[in-house]
Amino acid sequence: MRASQFTFATLKEIPSDADIVSSQLMIRAGLIRKLASGLYTWLPMGLRTLKKVQTIIREEMDAAGAQELLMPVTQPAELWQESGRFGAYGPELLRFQDRHQRDFVLGPTHEEVITDIARALLKSYKQLPVNYYQIQTKFRDEIRPRFGVMRSREFIMKDAYSFHVNPDSLQQTYDVMYRAYSNIFTRLGLDFRAVQADTGAIGGSASHEFQVLASSGEDDIVFSDTSDFAANIELAEAVTVDADQRALDRIEFGQGTQSKQDVATPDMPTCEQVAAHLDIPLSQTVKTLIVEGEPTEDGVPTLVALVLRGDHTLNEVKAEKLPQVKVPLTMASEAAMAAAGLHKGYIGVFGLPMPIIVDRSAAVLSDFVSGANRAGFHTTGVNWQRDAEVAAVADIRNVVEGDPSPDGQGTLRIRRGIEVGHIFQLGDKYSRALNVTVTGEDGKPVTPLMGCYGIGVTRIVAAAIEQNHDERGIIWNISTTGESIAPFDVVIVPMIKGKFKDAAQDPAMKLSEQLYATLQARGVDVLLDDRDERAGVKFADLELVGIPHRVVISDKNIHTDPAQTLYEYVNRRDGEKQLLTLAQLLEKLV
Ligand code: ATP
Ligand code: MG
Repeated sequence: MRASQFTFATLKEIPSDADIVSSQLMIRAGLIRKLASGLYTWLPMGLRTLKKVQTIIREEMDAAGAQELLMPVTQPAELWQESGRFGAYGPELLRFQDRHQRDFVLGPTHEEVITDIARALLKSYKQLPVNYYQIQTKFRDEIRPRFGVMRSREFIMKDAYSFHVNPDSLQQTYDVMYRAYSNIFTRLGLDFRAVQADTGAIGGSASHEFQVLASSGEDDIVFSDTSDFAANIELAEAVTVDADQRALDRIEFGQGTQSKQDVATPDMPTCEQVAAHLDIPLSQTVKTLIVEGEPTEDGVPTLVALVLRGDHTLNEVKAEKLPQVKVPLTMASEAAMAAAGLHKGYIGVFGLPMPIIVDRSAAVLSDFVSGANRAGFHTTGVNWQRDAEVAAVADIRNVVEGDPSPDGQGTLRIRRGIEVGHIFQLGDKYSRALNVTVTGEDGKPVTPLMGCYGIGVTRIVAAAIEQNHDERGIIWNISTTGESIAPFDVVIVPMIKGKFKDAAQDPAMKLSEQLYATLQARGVDVLLDDRDERAGVKFADLELVGIPHRVVISDKNIHTDPAQTLYEYVNRRDGEKQLLTLAQLLEKLV
């Protein structure tokens, strides 16, 4: 490609509404342009990168035995009514009507459509297992589209769906997908982790997220510093800090010696304020959160008290798994608390008119401090059992750095991650809802089990840039497999003297053309920067776009003996300049 014939849409100014560095750089480097909130055009420069990402994904999915197909973005609402998701999906699902007033949705995902296809195509166990995938546009009316293409409303996903006659077959394909995903993200040059994830309301048996480590990530990822344990914080089990009490079944309530005593804590509704006032560690206080419980059989609303150590935070996903707690988790209203005689900020653990569920780490405390159940007072010297009746002890907190790893090896660390992929054992949720059956080996009908496997194709580009950039612009990582998703791998910059009109006659231009032809013939993705611009302008653009290898050709290095002609080579990552012969240069670039 010749730069003079290619649209460089680079910008000097940082776009005012780009909220993270990858989105700023993608817009400034001319990879994308915003159309409206959560909607982006992929410009020619960006599309080159996006296509490289798609090629790697296709190659690995094909190698893993998956078959590519392409489903419509527009989906009839009846299918979503059949699965029960038409009502359940919420406002992220864009619903609309056609000219005949028939209901449709713009696909946020394709479980319904693929299951309908399976219902039509799959007749016998002999056709299974089978794994179908597509690379397709999705629409989700995200409540907060942000971070450019990282969380957009329209985005490209690779989604795959597999069908199986039994759980072993599902597990096998799941493992194959796990390996394919590891290959994909390795070839993409990303620093990623596969982490255990929550299976949520669908309740499948296994789920992993592939997370790119980056401080701008929206998820908290937990790892052991010694073993290979890694999980999303939503799922990571919190064990008590006391190593002797690690297993839940060995948790024993703390046994204290102090007696209960109320102390005045006026205008100190938080544990932090109380701990500072009493000069005790925050971990010696507890906080009581009142949430809505499952209504009684006659529909009467109930409340549940959740007790955590003062320095810990509630894990909502874990709390929602408690049978007593209403889903979605809802904090009790001020009115409901007042009706129960509770004073916000001063709620204790004794005499509460509702079941108390205590986090494991709070359960092992003794002689601790809680609210006194009267405004402006807290109570010291509180002990479980003696002072407070406990309905259940449960794991309901988020892990914190330094907690013991739940596999018993090492301690936990927490980093931010960007979810770029998700694999999931769905079970028969959709195949059962849509009545898919195939004839089993014994001649009887079987409902197939399903797996689903997603990759955020457009999000990957943003995640790659979050991980690799500097003050001059984007850096495209060269992966351990020697690949890159840079729009171009090499750029040749001829240093032309004088008027550009005579450029074709300029020795530097002639030699640049020769090198351009040589590299193209060898299959290198090369850009010839023949734009009529000052070298400084070109260099700034090329560094912003992040082309990994730059070759500058100038008269002063051209020799009558071609073997002695030197090429100035600059690597984008380290900026180091080298003068190389043609042989040395080709060695590096081809
Ligand atoms: P998130 O928790 O980030 O909202 P999700 O759980 O909704 O993700 P999935 O339904 O598993 O995502 O979709 C598969 C993949 O699609 C995700 O792993 C992610 O990489 C990508 N993805 C999801 N939502 C968006 C979005 N709004 N913009 C860009 N990519 C997205
Ligand atoms: Mg989502």
